[in-house]
Amino acid sequence: MKTIGLIGGMSWESSIEYYRIINETVRAKLGGLHSAKSIMYSVDFAEIEALQRQGEWHEATQLMIDAARHVKNGGADFVIICTNTMHMMADEVQKHIIIPLLHIADATAEKVKLRGLRKIGLIGTRFTMEEDFYKGRLTKKHGLEVVIPTAEEREIVHSVIFDELCIGERKKSSKEQYVHIMDHLVKNGAEGIVLGCTEVSLLVQDEDSQVPLFDTTKIHAVAAVEYALKP
Ligand code: GLU
Repeated sequence: MKTIGLIGGMSWESSIEYYRIINETVRAKLGGLHSAKSIMYSVDFAEIEALQRQGEWHEATQLMIDAARHVKNGGADFVIICTNTMHMMADEVQKHIIIPLLHIADATAEKVKLRGLRKIGLIGTRFTMEEDFYKGRLTKKHGLEVVIPTAEEREIVHSVIFDELCIGERKKSSKEQYVHIMDHLVKNGAEGIVLGCTEVSLLVQDEDSQVPLFDTTKIHAVAAVEYALKP
């Protein structure tokens, strides 16, 4: 079994989910007392959020490269960044480490394609919904078509993530807003919806959607286990 390196803490509310899903998946696959070999470097999310908000992406990239080196030096055979947003610098991080980085959007796109879907809705932070590092990867590398919420809806999705989900709050009113926004994506042709933020599955689940949901946390965590157990 390979050792999984996790860069977590963004936020820790979702890192716990990664840890749980990874270990549950190893147990389901290997049985008995088996659990995952892993090492997590967990950041102070307040520092990361400030850099994101101020557009200090160079410094944020440096932090991710340092974190990846820490998990590598701690014995990780490969690394996963436990947030969609911080995949903005995934290619840069990969350039600076010799172990592989498993990209969250690639793992997710594979699942979407396996379901035979072509047009998907995307919800996540403002950065993930609006900038090219994520959407561009889904469209150019994987041939998917991506629809995103309206500007007003994006503002709601983004603030619920930072003001509620990342600090452990789950509000019924926010869930209703998300359901409404997801329904709107379906009206705009989405055949499935990518929950492109690792905290969103803490708020909405399959039964809240008319179309299949792709929970990036679960998909990424399971992909990491599959890679770890690959001979
Ligand atoms: N966990 C979130 C994501 O998947 C947001 C936290 C962050 O900004 O890194 O994008």
